[in-house]
Amino acid sequence: MSRVLNAVRRRAAAVRHRGTTVGCPICERTFDRFKDAWNRPNALCWRCGSHERHRAQWLLFERRPQLLRDARSLLHFSPEWCLRQRLAATDGLRYVTTDLDPAQEAELRLDVTALQLPDEAFDAVICSHVLEHVDDDVAAMRELCRVTAAGGFALVMVPLALDRATTYEDASITAPEDRRRAFLQHDHVRLYAPDIADRLRAAGFAVEVVDLHAELGPDGAARHGLLPSDLAFLCRPG
Ligand SMILES: [Zn+2]
Repeated sequence: MSRVLNAVRRRAAAVRHRGTTVGCPICERTFDRFKDAWNRPNALCWRCGSHERHRAQWLLFERRPQLLRDARSLLHFSPEWCLRQRLAATDGLRYVTTDLDPAQEAELRLDVTALQLPDEAFDAVICSHVLEHVDDDVAAMRELCRVTAAGGFALVMVPLALDRATTYEDASITAPEDRRRAFLQHDHVRLYAPDIADRLRAAGFAVEVVDLHAELGPDGAARHGLLPSDLAFLCRPG
């Protein structure tokens, strides 16, 4: 029932905020502004709930249409509702979801550090905002590389501290409140810097860093509500 009620409320808010100033590329609606999130203004789509990073991912696929066109299969870790709807509807794509949390709806329950999948199992993989929760991210990156087919790609995103030169981790910080202070969230185990690209390369990927905020320029970034910190790491098995 609450899901139905939420959907009704979301539709009502989307109508109240009709406008043409900003646009969500995922649900293709336009608004006067985006909804404020708890910690930042102008962040969420009124209709589909997309965050800045989800819109960046979808724009990346729109601007590089060959990525999805050439993929016959896609494995999506911890899929968000908004992207899931669009990807599941992509013609000719076998779309598979996985989440380790049994509370989340997903087809597979996979541990990203030990994937029960054959080598090169998928042409495409999306792993966004997962690695910052994983103790052994090196093992996870190796597994992502192993299951991504030659010629395919893995799209990786994490919360990034652009002002840091190197990723910050400290295994002695384990209390939720301490982790929140050090790594931004109670269940994060590190704070990544853009040098995550080096870790991905060490795991076997060739890495292209895609900066959608810069690609679209100030007007385009404002239109779609993008953040400079939402860099996408487009990884191809080397
Ligand atoms: Zn939307």
